[in-house]
Amino acid sequence: MATAIPDLCPNTRIADIEELALDRKSLQGLDKLDLSTVSDALNHFPKRYEDRTRFDSFPDHPREASVCLHGVVADTRRKFGRNRRRFFEAVIEAPGGNSTGPRIVCRWFNMPYIHRIIAVEQELILYGKPKLSGRRLVMDHPEYEILDGENDLVEAHMGRIVPIYRLAAGLGQKTIRSLCFQLLESLADEDLPDWLPPGVMENQPRRCRALREIHYPESLDDLAVYRRYLALEEFTRLQMILLAKKEAIRAKGGIPHRGNGKLLRKFFSRLPFDLTGAQSRVIQEIGQDLEADRPMNRLLQGDVGAGKTLVAAAAILLVVEGGHDAALMAPTQILAEQHFRNFQDWYEPLGITVKLRTGSRESGGDLPLFEAARNGGERSPGSLTVGTHALLHGSSCFENELGLVVIDEQHKFGVRQRQTLIDQGDAPDVLVMTATPIPRTLTLSFYGDLDVSLLDELPPGRGKIITGVRSTTQTDRAIEFLKTQLSSGRQAYVVYPLIEESEKIKATAASEEFDRWQQRLPGFTCALLHGKMTSHEKETVMEEFRKGETSVLVSTTVIEVGVDVANANVIIIYHAERFGLAQLHQLRGRIGRGSHKSYCVLMCDPENPEYRERLRIMEESQDGFRIAEKDMRQRGPGEVLGTRQSGLSELKFVEFLNDFQLVHQARQVAVRMLKDSNRDKDHFQGALPPI
Ligand code: ADP
Ligand code: MG
Repeated sequence: MATAIPDLCPNTRIADIEELALDRKSLQGLDKLDLSTVSDALNHFPKRYEDRTRFDSFPDHPREASVCLHGVVADTRRKFGRNRRRFFEAVIEAPGGNSTGPRIVCRWFNMPYIHRIIAVEQELILYGKPKLSGRRLVMDHPEYEILDGENDLVEAHMGRIVPIYRLAAGLGQKTIRSLCFQLLESLADEDLPDWLPPGVMENQPRRCRALREIHYPESLDDLAVYRRYLALEEFTRLQMILLAKKEAIRAKGGIPHRGNGKLLRKFFSRLPFDLTGAQSRVIQEIGQDLEADRPMNRLLQGDVGAGKTLVAAAAILLVVEGGHDAALMAPTQILAEQHFRNFQDWYEPLGITVKLRTGSRESGGDLPLFEAARNGGERSPGSLTVGTHALLHGSSCFENELGLVVIDEQHKFGVRQRQTLIDQGDAPDVLVMTATPIPRTLTLSFYGDLDVSLLDELPPGRGKIITGVRSTTQTDRAIEFLKTQLSSGRQAYVVYPLIEESEKIKATAASEEFDRWQQRLPGFTCALLHGKMTSHEKETVMEEFRKGETSVLVSTTVIEVGVDVANANVIIIYHAERFGLAQLHQLRGRIGRGSHKSYCVLMCDPENPEYRERLRIMEESQDGFRIAEKDMRQRGPGEVLGTRQSGLSELKFVEFLNDFQLVHQARQVAVRMLKDSNRDKDHFQGALPPI
């Protein structure tokens, strides 16, 4: 029986609880999982459960799903396999069985210590996938647990549904299970008070009950309710943090940019095209933010090619007009150089200085000053600095006060990097732009502290993009097709995932393939582009491609974001199966920018027909929203949006990110709780639930 640990509270440090008698290794393991207090441990939720009231019967054929077996070790051997690979095997039979009963062989490879752990006559619980090896049924590297009875809290491990936790080196499954079991036994319900207000969900359980059930469910059928409750708690907490952040930014005084808009009008009048409706609308939204005396903190979402750069250009003009400086940060040097060039073309006639700051290059800033003087006694305009991460390092490059920070392809930057740039000013306005269109529900969780503008319209006259998934064996046909396009004056990208042949992933390298493409396309100039080239080399290659001097760019994914060459209408992507759908959509966004019909060929491994299935959506749709949604269903939202970069890596219930109802409810509850806590500041301190 477990003995209750006295005087326990959520903040008690696990290492200080003598009754647990944890050894040094276990404590190190807990440390690796960042579990230092009682509350940490109780919030380390099981990754799965085993129903140990009934075990699976010993299988007699391979299974797709894992089985959970209760058995006894009948025999063990240390063996050598192919390549003299050492392994250990244990023959397991049902308890109380005899040598004629069903048996299964468990194997562990390259685990030199395992023979000292597993021994004949031990009772084990095993979890793994039975498969055939020769004529024997085996389970390789099953999860196992030894039931040795000694010092065991039997009721924590047997005869009920038991939790299986994520582990770290040094920490055993039984140790952490006993730990959680004892903590829950020792804590009274009052020690685990409700945090969410009552009445926020149907059949709302008490928090103490939800916590007890998520560790030791009475039945797996009811688990969903408790998971949902704890997810709502977690999401509400997240929303409170986001809302508090938003409030903190609002509370800071911002710079009201209230110029007369002369520069902007001049800029528009010189553009060779009209703004799309969406662009006009968003520029207006931004204009209002800029005028206000609180800082803007806005996310601009728009599919690839929607014309986000132009919106940024308009915003920047409104800010520099009033004498403030602006910064535009892009994730790659190629993109920064492209922006630099565009903005120079746009701004120089208006008398605005554009500077460039990348790791390798600093230039600009030598525009004749007479333009500024011509402004007729008005305050001379600020300047724009375009750059890469280099903007974050070294001394500030702003002569005037930094009034606006624009971050392009923001998902390529971490939260901290964005903040470092913002901190170079005193509460500047901030515009972050992204081309991964994400569903509204997810926007709330990922960017709930930002206002959102949507560029939901592509400029007119864009050619159609035709997409096909093909097998690499069809390369010859692709070459023939490519030749016809190149002959009529178009250009193309050929993309490979990696630059060098890697030991781990046998991706064909762009640099290796480059020579081959040059031979395949006699009479056309190919160029190679990858991240390991010097900045100068990269820029030269891009410049020649932009001018049409090279026809084909054989490249890695360095062209993924932003690159804009309207004459390029073919993109062939090798090993397409290795990319996420959202990334493929980005890559495909490099074409279809001019009026020509465009073609995207996704080359896949012919051996794996399921790849084709996964990529089919690319053939069917050009809608970034649909593709991103599908991608998130395939790979999970965290994977697509980069939870780490959004600071959401801690989220325990990622699967609820797509749950419209739950996320919105969390937002509402958070708004309500924040309002209440503002009335009662002390309460707010206690308002964040112990995570
Ligand atoms: P993204 O939103 O992917 O960053 P860009 O800003 O690079 O897109 O714009 C893509 C291309 O569309 C650029 O060549 C740009 O000049 C052009 N463009 C932007 N707005 C318009 C418009 N209103 N009409 C026509 N072309 C436009
Ligand atoms: Mg862009």
